[in-house]
Amino acid sequence: METSFLEFAKLCRSLEETSSTLEKRRIISNFLRKINPDEWKPFVLLLTGKVLPESENKALYVGYSTIKKAISSKIQTLIPLGPPTIKEVYRELNRVASISGADVQRKRVDILSSLLSRMSDIEREFLIRSLSGEMRIGAEVGLVLQALADAAKVDIEKLRKAYLLIGDIGELAEKLSKKELNLDNIKPKLFNPIRPMLATSADTIEEAMQLAGGRAAVEVKYDGVRVQIHYASGEVKVFSRRLTDVTENLPEVTDVIKKTLKVRDVILEGEVIAVDEKGNPRPFQELMKRFKRIKDFEIIVKKIPIKLYLFDILYLNGKLLVNEPYYKRYEYLTSIVPSSLLAERIVTDDISVAKDFYERAIRAGHEGVMVKKLDAPYVMGVRGANWIKVKEVETIDVVVVGAEWGHGRRRNWLSDYYLAVYDPENNEFLIVGKTFKGLTDEEFEWMTRKLLELKIADEGYRIWVKPEIVVEVAFNEVQKSPKYKSGYALRFARITRFRLDKDPKDVTTINELKEIYLRDMMRRELS
Ligand code: AMP
Repeated sequence: METSFLEFAKLCRSLEETSSTLEKRRIISNFLRKINPDEWKPFVLLLTGKVLPESENKALYVGYSTIKKAISSKIQTLIPLGPPTIKEVYRELNRVASISGADVQRKRVDILSSLLSRMSDIEREFLIRSLSGEMRIGAEVGLVLQALADAAKVDIEKLRKAYLLIGDIGELAEKLSKKELNLDNIKPKLFNPIRPMLATSADTIEEAMQLAGGRAAVEVKYDGVRVQIHYASGEVKVFSRRLTDVTENLPEVTDVIKKTLKVRDVILEGEVIAVDEKGNPRPFQELMKRFKRIKDFEIIVKKIPIKLYLFDILYLNGKLLVNEPYYKRYEYLTSIVPSSLLAERIVTDDISVAKDFYERAIRAGHEGVMVKKLDAPYVMGVRGANWIKVKEVETIDVVVVGAEWGHGRRRNWLSDYYLAVYDPENNEFLIVGKTFKGLTDEEFEWMTRKLLELKIADEGYRIWVKPEIVVEVAFNEVQKSPKYKSGYALRFARITRFRLDKDPKDVTTINELKEIYLRDMMRRELS
């Protein structure tokens, strides 16, 4: 007998109510043991909120508005059907995903609402949570993998590696349930993206070279989109860092790969940037135009040419290369692609040579450099010290509009500053964060005196001042935040210099800050 979706929903509830991960793992593995093997795949996909395997790449187009419409629609099935099973829910969702042609939206709403009409409240709740990617029951992929390993009695480390290669927990679960998975000989499946290796960062070249342990490769860090290129039997697919298929957004990549490669099959990695007529890099925002849904894509392609820079190879002619040291992988790479397609790089143990290379990269309009350990394997899905990025910090100009008195050693100083950007439309300054970082003792003293002169309101622990002192701040990220009226907050802001030459109205505007936020959001998605 098939397991009902109600049982699934109840399981989700008990996971939600359990805080111990060990207990969660036990609950999930017990459930796996209890259900039928052919229910494993739909179960883990629903549980992890993935519903459809990422590799199948049929984006399930169910946004909030579709869900909302489905909930409020009063559709009743003609033949009254009982409560659905896990497999049925999965099948129906697949149906939703594969609909095309006219009237798609209405058809999707219809299928979903007739499914919802067969459910009790708890089932509806967890179907909606799974669909909107907001399960929040702590059933992360890592934990589900452990539960799968327990239930199938396989080695967790091997299973984790298999997941990194196969990238699709549904497929893994299915193979495990059919006992078709040989964990000692997992081959990547071409056209199934591999979880990429990520970089740590260093503040300076010296630090990066030290971390790399002497002789290392120093490569230009291009400010574009990370691409993983799969090529076999004349076919090409390009995946982004988040493993989305971006082949159609970057048609030139397919062209150049088809034209130049003379191999049977290969997985390559590189970065694609937007360039001008002379081949010089253009800002990341320009490249993003290719990823927004636009009708006249052909015009965009002409207007925003791109260039591909390859920097790694993970698989060649049937052989997985991730465990080979980087210098070996690089030899494979250069043996199959021309130097015009390679990222610019040097290999050195000389810090001044590395520094020189860094400065040239910045002058040429690039983001910085990547320092790479020569003997390191390609560690899939991990942010480790095999790659160390060094980039110029980004700064904006803000004006100080208020300050709080410090504590302890700083109690006599106004040492925590409210930073604001300018909104020219309403002629007002909007707070985007607070910082007490970056100043020397003398500067704190000077600031305290100056701010007291500019005081317009006193709340005891805090004062508000006339916007006059402009400072440059560095930050790690712009986040959305309900805390301030501006709607944004700078993460880890620190003052890098005074800009007393600047007029307060010349500081960064709220619109410019929004742009930075949007750009970073796209970056997280793609690079
Ligand atoms: P970040 O996004 O700042 O963590 O930096 C890592 C990203 O830099 C990678 O995901 C790539 O998209 C990008 N990148 C640009 N140039 C290179 C390069 N030469 N080697 C490795 N990654 C690079």
